[in-house]
Amino acid sequence: MQFNTKTIHGNQHHDASTGAVMPPIYQTSTYAQTSPGVHKGYEYSRTGNPTRHALEEAFASLENGNYGLAFGSGLAAIDAILKLFVPGDEIIATNDLYGGTYRLFTKVYEKFGLVFKFVDMQNTENISAQVTSNTKLIWVETPTNPMMNIIDIEAVIQIARQNKVLLAVDNTFATPYLQLPLDMGADIVMHSATKYLGGHSDVVMGALVVKDKELADKLYFLQNASGAVCGPMDSFLVLRGLKTLHVRMQRHCENGAQVAVYLKNHPKIDKVYWPGFENHPNHEIARRQMKDFGGMMSFTVKGNHKADAITVVENLKLFTLAESLGGVESLCGHPATMTHASIPKEEREKTGVTDSLIRLSVGIEDVGDLIEDLRLALLHV
Ligand SMILES: *Cc1c(COP(=O)(O)O)cnc(C)c1O
Repeated sequence: MQFNTKTIHGNQHHDASTGAVMPPIYQTSTYAQTSPGVHKGYEYSRTGNPTRHALEEAFASLENGNYGLAFGSGLAAIDAILKLFVPGDEIIATNDLYGGTYRLFTKVYEKFGLVFKFVDMQNTENISAQVTSNTKLIWVETPTNPMMNIIDIEAVIQIARQNKVLLAVDNTFATPYLQLPLDMGADIVMHSATKYLGGHSDVVMGALVVKDKELADKLYFLQNASGAVCGPMDSFLVLRGLKTLHVRMQRHCENGAQVAVYLKNHPKIDKVYWPGFENHPNHEIARRQMKDFGGMMSFTVKGNHKADAITVVENLKLFTLAESLGGVESLCGHPATMTHASIPKEEREKTGVTDSLIRLSVGIEDVGDLIEDLRLALLHV
């Protein structure tokens, strides 16, 4: 089955009891038992809920995995992965990481004895240099946020295999439309389903997909034992969002390409970070491992003044100034004061997240209108 069919039919079934084409919202916490322990597969909705289960199956199908798990947020999904480990275990992670992931790693789990090493994974030798006998997980985010660097997943997989450590990929930016890490050999795919999978900026949710049964069982245990599950209404909304993932992504990519070229040619723009450009440092890897280049990009205004960046985001009208990304509507953000404010300034600037950087999530509106919006906002600087 092709991806464009899977978004609508993959592991998705009509409701067995009524024939409802879309899974009903099973807004219930508990399920009747005819005798103690005798039930229809559901006991309590933290452990399992039919609407959430339908979504988890769909997640598994889209990522070409065998098991899907849905959580109350992307960070709750990452939190479940981290609970696989014990004090002293080491995790090697991408250095320009989603700010909330960095915060969870350093402010929460370091306290419990996990050791994190942040490396620039554009050169995968940096990873090999950090592997020790305590290394248990390599954490990859690609494209990275907000610098749009591309990490060679296959090269990292070689390192993970040689050293028998798990590899997890945060696939939030790319989505399974653009890349399928499990097919390349990753062990875990993670999503903030809040972003492209949900696609309508109306839900906060996380997802994990794995192939291996033993790993899935450990994660299901943690999902139930820690309890950071999502509700049936949110599950329904994301199932609905998934049905159009392929058409949305196609348009995000088309619009993204046009906006990136417009910015690149604009006299007031300094740098545009978008992997589709031939002179992007990781362009060849992006071409190889991604189907297209997506709708996310970052740029700086010439002169690199924070005030100019603020002026631009304040004057954009169709691009709403807001956290988050991946919805049908275009958003803009100022990473240094918004998504990446929790990363110390020196750390941030080392990876290029300067005070003048603006991030765009290009939506699926008419691209001419989006470009006009940028043109007008840039008149102010
Ligand atoms: C938003 C995001 C997360 C965190 O997900 P939440 O749903 O906000 O908890 C993790 N990784 C990336 C790349 C994100 O964009």
